[in-house]
Amino acid sequence: MKCPYCSNEMELGIIQSPHEIAWKKGLERTKGRASSYDDSVILSGTDMFSGSAVKASNCRICKKIIISYTASPDLN
Ligand SMILES: [Zn+2]
Repeated sequence: MKCPYCSNEMELGIIQSPHEIAWKKGLERTKGRASSYDDSVILSGTDMFSGSAVKASNCRICKKIIISYTASPDLN
C-alpha cells in the first residue's frame, strides 16, 4: 500500500492489545466496550488467550498509521 500523503511504500504490520481495539466517536476517554457507544467501530474483538490484533500500514516518513476495517473485525 502506498501512503496517501507521500506515496512512500507503507510497511504492513499489526496493532495488538490484550483488550478490544476500537474507535469511538469524540475525544472523551470512556470505559467499557465500544459496542456500548453509538457509532463506535470495533476493529478487533478480544480473545482471552491471544488478545486482539488488527492489520495496520505504517509510513515512517509521515508518521501515519492506516487501519482498514470491515463488518467482521478479526485480522481482515
Ligand atoms: Zn507517508
